[in-house]
Order: sequence, then C-alpha cells, then structure tokens
Amino acid sequence: MSSFASQVKNELVHVLGDQICCKMAELAALLRMGATISFNSKHDFGINFVTENAAVARKILSLLKTSVPKIHTEVTVRRSRRLRKHNSYSVRAIPSPETSSILKQLGFLSAKNLLDAGTDRNFLQKDCCKIAYLRGAFLGGGSVNRPEGQYHLEFVTGNYNFARLILNLCHELYLPAGITDRKKVYIIYLKESEAILELLGLIGVEDDLLQEFESARNLKEIRNQVNRLINCETANLQRTINAAGRQIDNIKIIQQYDKYDNLPKAVKQTAQVRMNHPEASLAELAELLNCSRSAINHRIRKLEVLAEQLKKGDATR
Ligand SMILES: [Zn+2]
Repeated sequence: MSSFASQVKNELVHVLGDQICCKMAELAALLRMGATISFNSKHDFGINFVTENAAVARKILSLLKTSVPKIHTEVTVRRSRRLRKHNSYSVRAIPSPETSSILKQLGFLSAKNLLDAGTDRNFLQKDCCKIAYLRGAFLGGGSVNRPEGQYHLEFVTGNYNFARLILNLCHELYLPAGITDRKKVYIIYLKESEAILELLGLIGVEDDLLQEFESARNLKEIRNQVNRLINCETANLQRTINAAGRQIDNIKIIQQYDKYDNLPKAVKQTAQVRMNHPEASLAELAELLNCSRSAINHRIRKLEVLAEQLKKGDATR
C-alpha cells in the first residue's frame, strides 16, 4: 500500500458518521471486506477481523464499541520478524448474544442464525449512509496512488455482489467508477483525478491532504500540457471536438427521453452552452459560464451518467 493511502486511512479513522445509520453502514462495509464469523458451543456468533493497518483495526473497534457498548472485544498484534513485512492486527468480538445481535442487525445472519450474504441495500437508502459505506469499504480494502504516478483509486474484494454494490453506489454518487477482475478478486476503480478527489472529499479526507494531491497533480498537468503543446496541438483539438461530439450526443439522448427540462439548472445551462459552442474546450466552457473547470467537469459527467442510464433503460430519476 502506498504511503499516501496509509495517510488517507489514518485520517479516515477519525471520521465518524453523525448518525447511527451511517455507523452501521460503515461497519457493514468494513466487515464485508474481511471479517470471518466464529461461533461457540452455545451457538453465539463472534467476529474476527485481521488487518495490517493499525488505523483500520482501531476503526473497527470503535465502531463495534459505539454500536454495542457491551460487546466484548480483544485485539492482538502479531509482530513480523521479517524486514518490510507488516505487523498484523487481529480484532475479535468474542462469540456472545451481543455480537450475534449486531451481526443480525447488519444482515450478516438471517433470522434462523444462518450465515447470510446480507442485504446491505436495506440501510443504504440515504446519501449519508452510502458515503459512510464507501468509507468503510475504502478503509477495509481500498488504495489510492499519489498522483505523481498514474491516477488510480481502487477497492478490492473477492465478493462479487459486494463489488457490484460498491460500483453502483459510486455511480449513484456520480463517480465514474469501472470494474474489472484479476485472479479471483474484483477491482472497482477510479482513474480520473477529479473523481478521485471528489470521492476522497466525500468520505471525509481533509482539505490539507487533498491539496497535497492536487498540487502534485497540477505539477504533473503542467508538464503534460507543455508536452502536448509541443507534440500534438492538432491531435488535442481533434480530441476536444470528439469529446464535444459525445457530449452533444448525450444531451440529445436526454432530450429524446424528455428528461432535459428536469435537469438541475446549472447542468441545463452547461448543456445549452455546450450545444451553442461545439468547438469549445471544457476550460473555455468554464470561462463562458464563469465557473470552475471542475464544476464543468462534474456537470458534463452528470449528463454522461444520465445518458448512459437512459440508454440502459434503468433510469429512475
Ligand atoms: Zn446515514
């Protein structure tokens, strides 16, 4: 894991949702990322969670304690004797009626005390809970690169349904996530710097750390811009025009489905200006609308997401 990812996680440990609904959502996602269930001879259930990140262990512990004050927990540290191998932390909630009841509330156990794949959707109705869930998923199985390298943020899990859920939640929050698989695990990823910044901001990463990401990104962008100017001004222009063409197609789809008038005001305004200026770059659109480039990016993405949903026929708004 990159040191930037560790920094992000250390910070996220201190972010707690205000409401119990959000705490449950975050705990559920964290447990889905790597908990195993144990039980004793009285058929009480317990939870085991192993992580190499001390911050994540602390977060699990604090979420368990705030959800069920009486829960009995144990933490053990296995120190690695080998160089460059991490310590591992194991958090256990001892099998007990309290632990069983939280597992039941989370949907991990069905009414008959059988292990259940769970129905996390039930407590993911509100945006606050969706965000808390993504924070838990990121803490439990996420990573992000410092932007000197490639822009990349990912969630990794072996559970297909959980992976689909993370993907859908990202889309519901207008984050352009993709999914792929690699040797028995599923990877949900973000590759655009704007989207990565937005997700990190949403789940509670503070501005200082985001600015660090952004300034590294700006340096990289300036370097890239210079290269682009020298190498391929025409190619760039062509790309702008192609992108604008796709955006206009999206707007037309939205119009065909009669959803254009329902668009939020700022999004509709952006669509209008895009239609009137098919040759303009996003920076020029931002100038025309007197707003930031990232605001334009965000609105263009909303149009794209909506058009995609309409094409797929699963639009609900
Ligand atoms: Zn909530």
